Amino acid sequence: MKRFDYHTHNHISFDAKATLQEHCEAALQKGLDEFALTNHYELDMVESGKEKGPDLALEEIELQEMRERYAGRVTILRGIEIGQPDYDSVAAKKLIDAREYDIVLGSLHNGLHGLDFYYMNPDEYTNAQLCNLWEAYLVLLAKIARTADIDVLTHILYPVRYVPLERSACFSMDLSRFEPIFKALIERGIALELNTAAIRKGVMTVPDPGLKILKFYRALGGEYLSIGSDAHFARDLAANFDDAVELAKAAGFTHLTTFRKRQKIMEALK
Ligand SMILES: [Zn+2]
Ligand SMILES: [Zn+2]
Repeated sequence: MKRFDYHTHNHISFDAKATLQEHCEAALQKGLDEFALTNHYELDMVESGKEKGPDLALEEIELQEMRERYAGRVTILRGIEIGQPDYDSVAAKKLIDAREYDIVLGSLHNGLHGLDFYYMNPDEYTNAQLCNLWEAYLVLLAKIARTADIDVLTHILYPVRYVPLERSACFSMDLSRFEPIFKALIERGIALELNTAAIRKGVMTVPDPGLKILKFYRALGGEYLSIGSDAHFARDLAANFDDAVELAKAAGFTHLTTFRKRQKIMEALK
């Protein structure tokens, strides 16, 4: 079975430092067949002029160079992680059409308060406020699933990473909360991501979104499943890939979904 990682960042992302070559070396060491470079592009922040956005021209130069150097040894997919991809569909289309992407990830980092959960200090919020942010997050996530032109919806339990467990007790994991999200994904043929970062952050013992929620996605008819480490360091490439495979099997999946030029290719789970 193919080993891959469809969610990785390098120095082109504001929050990572690794070079693409370091990723390639790690991929060889770990026996990966392929990985996708999916640097951050926070659509709302860039379009509103609050962030300048990643240097995609520089990324492309490095990508071409490394594709040549590692040809026949590891495949590097051209990807992107678009944060808040529903913010402006015209801008999103322009961004996606500018290059021939293999895979487009869609994420929700910023809640209704316009601030990335990554930056927020939970101590500045009451439990009720945190709870409201969670509910608002799920509504926004469903909107992304319904409207954005993406191939994979990533880390759907993202806020859980940054709000301590004792403060997130009010985050409802009631399956009905996830139904609108999953129904939209299924209807539109968008894959759900098994994201392993929450394990490294010590907030989950299995990949996001966990067995119960994954089983629910399956029961609703979900069949497309991607795996991503969300590595910001080369050492984390494909971290807990085997755990993600086990989780997929436990939830009743028989295939994973791989990507080429935004086309889905089913890979049998073995
Ligand atoms: Zn993300
Ligand atoms: Zn990411």
